[in-house]
Amino acid sequence: MLPALDVATMLLMTAVASFAMAGALAAVRPEQREGIGLWALALVLHGTCYVLYALRGQVPAWASVVLANALLSGSFALILGAIEQFHGRPAPWWRMVLPVAVLTLLFALYIDRFTTRVGMLGVVLSLQLLLMLWALWRPAPPAQVRGAWLLTAGLGLQVLLLTSRGWLVATGRVGVEQLMQASALQAVSFVAAFVVVILASLGFILMAKDRSDAAHRHLAAHDALTGLANRRALMLMLERGVAHATRTQQECALLLLDIDHFKAINDTHGHLGGDQVLRHVAEVLRTRVHAQDFVGRYGGEEFMVLLPGTGREGALQLAETLRQAVADSACPLPGGAIATTISIGVCAGAAGLRGSAPALVQCADQALYAAKAAGRNRVEYRQG
Ligand code: GH3
Ligand code: MG
Ligand code: MG
Repeated sequence: MLPALDVATMLLMTAVASFAMAGALAAVRPEQREGIGLWALALVLHGTCYVLYALRGQVPAWASVVLANALLSGSFALILGAIEQFHGRPAPWWRMVLPVAVLTLLFALYIDRFTTRVGMLGVVLSLQLLLMLWALWRPAPPAQVRGAWLLTAGLGLQVLLLTSRGWLVATGRVGVEQLMQASALQAVSFVAAFVVVILASLGFILMAKDRSDAAHRHLAAHDALTGLANRRALMLMLERGVAHATRTQQECALLLLDIDHFKAINDTHGHLGGDQVLRHVAEVLRTRVHAQDFVGRYGGEEFMVLLPGTGREGALQLAETLRQAVADSACPLPGGAIATTISIGVCAGAAGLRGSAPALVQCADQALYAAKAAGRNRVEYRQG
């Protein structure tokens, strides 16, 4: 037997949870595109609705019935807007405003018909919840799956709550006179309403957090100009690659690439022109290397390609392909396309490569130096 819980207290608890969560979200000043601002506003509407529910009998019926439910529907509309905003899509105004307008109108018309009202509320709010779930998972599931599932659990519980209450009222099992009375049904449904606020809000916050974590992880491992792996990520992969090659007695090769006469490009076309050339060369390299290979920007106008499980022949072949591809594709600049070439130092060797990643880099560097000395736009090789 459940203890008798006071209905007004439970309603106020849900209101307090909504306001507290809204305050916490507003305090962190989220970026607008995350949808967190709209979510906080939705919670304010939600909390106000539950305050009005709790005041039933003490405030006019239009406030505790019509206004309260309009606010509830409005909070659902804002949540739909928040989900769309999170996905970077514009607010779907019609899908937001129409259910609220319809619900408010129907409630004003049927203010005295309790059963009709509860039925309509169940239908309109469930429809709004389905729109939210659709916006969350369609056209493709979001990358932040664990938050999305938590949010789905919250919204799903709300659908369950609405439909079961609607069914109980429609079948005459619960009447208007029991609405503010403590009962097991009331306890379960209002505790669930409280849980919905917590689950759904935490799910949405988790989604925003997971996305921002992923963005930071990407920033930490990638070069902002070219989008390739940065030096830090390259060195990490190199250490791992050499360790793996040593352990498995496999071959492993490294290409060090350097744009020829890049200073002259900067001098003639300015730094922005130089940056454009860097992006262009990076793109040529990125689209030519195989999925198992690892390409990154080593520094300035130098790039690196790590080829696990590849020996001398394979490495030289790829180096020649890359050299040719860069020489053949002029880089488009505002003043017209310009040709660029690269020199490549290749180092390959069986397991060990003199034991370490720095040794492999030094070996490729010597080969690159030889390629520059021999006239540039060419590939040179050193045995690791
Ligand atoms: P070489 O054929 O011998 O390689 O000649 P180089 O002119 O390419 O030689 P060097 O390596 O000395 O020149 C590299 C230049 O790259 C110097 C530096 O100003 C420029 N640079 C480095 N990083 C960037 C960058 O992010 N953007 C631009 N635009 N230039 C950069
Ligand atoms: Mg250079
Ligand atoms: Mg250089």
